[in-house]
Amino acid sequence: FIKYCHFVKITMHDLIMAVFGKNVIVFYGSQTGTAEEFAARLARDATRYGMKGMAADPEECDMDDLIKLSEIDNSLAIFCLATYGEGDPTDNAQEFYDWLQEGTEDLPGLKYAGKPTLKWDVSNLYIEDDFVTWKENFWPAVCEHYGVTSIGEDISMREYALTEFDEAPLDKLYKGEPARLHSFTTQKPPFDAKNPFLAPVTVNRELHKGGDRSCMHIEFDISGSRIRYDAGDHVAVFPVNDSEVVEKLGQRLNIDLGKAFTLTNVDEDASKRHPFPCPTTYRIALSHYLDITNTPRTNVLKELTEYATDPKEKEFLQKLTSPTPEGKALYNEWVLKDHRNILAVLEDLSSLQPPIDHICELLPRLHARYYSISSSPKVTPTKISITAILVDYTTRTGRHQKGVATSWLKLKQPVGDQCPKVPVYVRKSQFRLPFKPSVPVLMIGPGTGIAPFRGFIQDRSQAKADDFLYADELEKYKEDGVLTKLYVAFSRDQPEKVYVQHLLAENGEEIWKILQSSGHVYVCGDARHMAHDVDETLQQIVMKKGQMERSAAQDYLKRIRTRGRYQCDVWS
Ligand code: FAD
Repeated sequence: FIKYCHFVKITMHDLIMAVFGKNVIVFYGSQTGTAEEFAARLARDATRYGMKGMAADPEECDMDDLIKLSEIDNSLAIFCLATYGEGDPTDNAQEFYDWLQEGTEDLPGLKYAGKPTLKWDVSNLYIEDDFVTWKENFWPAVCEHYGVTSIGEDISMREYALTEFDEAPLDKLYKGEPARLHSFTTQKPPFDAKNPFLAPVTVNRELHKGGDRSCMHIEFDISGSRIRYDAGDHVAVFPVNDSEVVEKLGQRLNIDLGKAFTLTNVDEDASKRHPFPCPTTYRIALSHYLDITNTPRTNVLKELTEYATDPKEKEFLQKLTSPTPEGKALYNEWVLKDHRNILAVLEDLSSLQPPIDHICELLPRLHARYYSISSSPKVTPTKISITAILVDYTTRTGRHQKGVATSWLKLKQPVGDQCPKVPVYVRKSQFRLPFKPSVPVLMIGPGTGIAPFRGFIQDRSQAKADDFLYADELEKYKEDGVLTKLYVAFSRDQPEKVYVQHLLAENGEEIWKILQSSGHVYVCGDARHMAHDVDETLQQIVMKKGQMERSAAQDYLKRIRTRGRYQCDVWS
């Protein structure tokens, strides 16, 4: 209900109607899906604790009405909000965050759980462990507060009902579109997370000059898309799972991957009608919509336990998913450290035979991957480039694991005029160069961290592009160490003019050292102003650093001139 009402904000009254009979709402702020996944789990957990929960996207609710939630008996709002970048709110929580910052609303009577409790880093391998541990304290506290009792941890609840179709009309089936049916065939701007642009890959080249690692420089053509970007923005790519893994899963589960189906929420008032766009086929769901390569979380494995027919395997899974220290240690070793994905779990527990629809219900969504844009619109307004390192490794159990997006992108090679297309959208970022090109910047970016800086440098180079003769060569010489320093003054790039003499004055100490260590000075170019101004500045430096009167400084420069250490090739 909420999810599919894009463009229309639902009021809290509608929300209350939608959550009729429910009293726990878990609002999520999610960028990569983790917080959304945890919110959905908390909402499901609520049922286990005798309450009724739902997960909701703050972007799609009118948060002004939050106060009205207190009108529901025993209501509780949970805020499961990830942060992003420099502690910024996620895109979908931005408006809510701004509203909270304004601080005009009091929320008397609203019971909420949102106090920072744990610092989670999504790259943290043990995030699952942290979450489970946090929940163990959280729910009993909620139960105590509301005077409810747990009705059992182990009940399995199916959220979605399966309908399979013998003959489904092809044009009704989703084929990988993230939200709108046929959005891949009828491409209409504006392009965003729900409506990505199919960008042709025009360049895909290797950046590493040797070794067995691979780093790709990929260029997406965005002409005609009306997509605008700035250096420092991110581009999101919707990847597709490796077909070999999908086929293997189909074989292991003994299913017809081409079968069309729909999963529909059994709760008619639920915020999500379907776990992903439906109807579709199992092949498409496993390829486009489900995360089949990450390690499954404990709740997934717990729900699958009932499908193990071998008592030993069942017991093993029970232990693995129990929130005891042994259970957690086993999960950390056998699932996380061995990096067993759902296929590896099924391969190693041969009696485990879950139905595909339950797997489709349980696995998280396959999410878009973000890449720092490594180009500048000032240089390439219709091209976006990324710099992506290929993820490819062997797990402790000897399985070859390929990064979903990067190994898929690796195959997107243009051949002649034939450019493979990739669904993308641009995510605006706060990562920006200072407005004035004259403000110095220090850029630290090892590995692919160089990506946005390539955009930044392009941005700055563009302002200079017309003037900066032999820029490439000079930069190259600096890179090679032939030039130890390269100061460039682009007088027209900012309101107050910056000329070479300004840079000389700024670096007086360094200039004085060069002069004192028998350095040579060469001046070439405009004689009318520049050479004169440079001479004046050099005099100032000598006076200041050499603690001399003006006449002594003039003598000093005259002396080095006669020794050929101060030469001018100037013309007017
Ligand atoms: P996945 O299938 O997602 O696999 C990655 C996962 O595999 C890792 O999380 C880890 O759990 C596991 N893994 C990886 N290597 C090993 C190993 N050796 N042993 C065990 N497990 C391992 N990436 C870039 O290359 N360039 C960028 O400019 C860039 N910019 C980014 C900007 C932002 C804002 C964000 C959030 C991410 C950025 N990334 C960038 C990362 C990128 O989004 C993807 O996460 C990355 O490319 C991997 O995606 P994948 O689908 O290929 O790998």
